[in-house]
Amino acid sequence: MLSHISRGLVAVALFASALAAPVADGHSVFKRGFLDGVTLKNITLPYRGSLPLFPSLKSSPPDSACKILQANYTYVPGETEYATEQNRYYSILNGNDKPRCFITPTSGLEVSLAIQTLALTKERFRVKSGGHNHNANVSSVSDGIVISLERFAGVVYDAKTKTAEVGPGQAWIDVVRALAPYGVAPVGGRFGDVGVGGFLLGGGISFRSNQFGWGASNVVSYKMVLPDGTIVTASADENCDLLDVLKGAGNAQFGVVYSFTLKVYPQTSQIWGGTVNYPLSAGDDILKATQAYTKYNTDPKAHVFTIYTSIPLNNLGLWVVGLFYDAPTPPPNVFENFTKIANISDGVKTQSYTDLVASLIFKTEGTSGDWCSELLPIPKDANAISPLKYLVDTLEKTQAPYVNSFVSSSFVLHTVSKSLMLKQAKQRGGDVYDLNPNFDYYIWQYTFTALNDPALQGTTRKLLADATQTGRQMYLNLAANGTLPGPWQGLYHLPLYSNYVCIGQGEQDLVGRLSIAKQAQVKLAKLKYDPKGLFTKQSLSYKL
Ligand SMILES: Cc1cc2nc3c(=O)[nH]c(=O)nc-3n(C[C@H](O)[C@H](O)[C@H](O)COP(=O)(O)OP(=O)(O)OC[C@H]3O[C@@H](n4cnc5c(N)ncnc54)[C@H](O)[C@@H]3O)c2cc1C
Repeated sequence: MLSHISRGLVAVALFASALAAPVADGHSVFKRGFLDGVTLKNITLPYRGSLPLFPSLKSSPPDSACKILQANYTYVPGETEYATEQNRYYSILNGNDKPRCFITPTSGLEVSLAIQTLALTKERFRVKSGGHNHNANVSSVSDGIVISLERFAGVVYDAKTKTAEVGPGQAWIDVVRALAPYGVAPVGGRFGDVGVGGFLLGGGISFRSNQFGWGASNVVSYKMVLPDGTIVTASADENCDLLDVLKGAGNAQFGVVYSFTLKVYPQTSQIWGGTVNYPLSAGDDILKATQAYTKYNTDPKAHVFTIYTSIPLNNLGLWVVGLFYDAPTPPPNVFENFTKIANISDGVKTQSYTDLVASLIFKTEGTSGDWCSELLPIPKDANAISPLKYLVDTLEKTQAPYVNSFVSSSFVLHTVSKSLMLKQAKQRGGDVYDLNPNFDYYIWQYTFTALNDPALQGTTRKLLADATQTGRQMYLNLAANGTLPGPWQGLYHLPLYSNYVCIGQGEQDLVGRLSIAKQAQVKLAKLKYDPKGLFTKQSLSYKL
């Protein structure tokens, strides 16, 4: 009986592949509406709220989805492609998992078949786009199934609408390279190997965010498969309640997105950018320069990120600052506070945008690690850097017992200015973060990493949780006494940035930290689009 059904499913899947419309580069994009509600050999697809494909399997324990869906797009242990899939992760905390199989669909219908099959088999599963999220098990799972979207890797530019349809399963450098010949670029990841899907569903901080908001601010439509297998579009015209929540809370919550249509913008052939390394002693100057930049910079073409990193196996640390200007040369005053600090090495230069993004790719074979992040409103006084120094000290103290070990750590400041990035994001329709436009913010992030030793995972995770909690408590104390903006100054919610939140272990409550209105919006959307809680029960989902 099962093998009969399996064969039937394979036939449906192959038929669906054939119907998927090929585009120039060979990437298949399922055309919405093409199959909606039609009958394929007595099987009606899609049919919200039931499992029309497997009516006779409902009552008995079924085989694994790997067996039911066996086809040329399912890889099982022992196959070369399976091993290749395992290597396509940023962190070994995902790559070392041993899923029952990787399902690699090529069309919306194949994603739908996979989701409906998983609903039936009740197996745990994960969705993977670029596999670049650091946190353990977010896009992989042992003894479960991974839906890997790597075959959704097309880029189709529409010069008329100045939009590009992009697949989630590729890295941003691929999108940048594909669009460069048209003289346009996306609002995509700063680091070339970051995946498209996770980045956009969590928000997405780009070199161009001061000009155009989050990456997600520029998504005009999403094609996706809902938890019941229905294929839908979310845009301003269709399912707009879904569109709203996908902008920030989209990671593995409401279904599987297999295509994004993005606004893209003209890109000068040359930009100015790169990273500068500074000694530990430059810390105060760098923090002051970062704070002044975030508060006072009015030039949307400028972008800065700041990193403090400890180096394993010695007692050294390093400051790294990323500087970007969206033109061949910046005006003299924009980065002056940084360029006047004595550095160790300076890699900033005039180059193509593609070269910059490609240069920011770091191979991390054998690395395990986790990260957490918090938001921090910036104090009124630009020189008041003591909260930042406290965060750096906390990291150093936490790391101290592990000097001379393979444990390393970093502290990153991502800047969110109210007059530039926030304004642009709001003008483009807003997002779940709904940040108060009266404040500038840092997204500060701790990462603890253990080189070549997954056994240290418990240690790094504990260090991370402790340090993050200490940093969070600092903010609560300073907000309570009025030193930092908080409820006394009209700041009532301080959300977490989804792309750097600790996920997978429930350490940080993404939804609970949204504004009351946005919490309600996300919860209502969850009830509407995943009423049976498929993603909550079987996949990774934020607390609701
Ligand atoms: C070195 C480095 C640099 C980075 N730089 C930046 C940066 O410049 N700006 C920034 O904002 N972030 C940055 N990040 C963070 C990055 O945005 C997130 O890790 C993001 O999740 C990566 O996207 P991905 O496609 O690789 O996600 P994955 O690791 O594949 O998935 C992450 C999560 O999203 C879910 N998900 C992924 N795709 C889909 C989909 N199509 N449908 C439904 N759910 C999905 C997964 O199930 C998983 O829970 C960086 C990370 C690293 C390690």
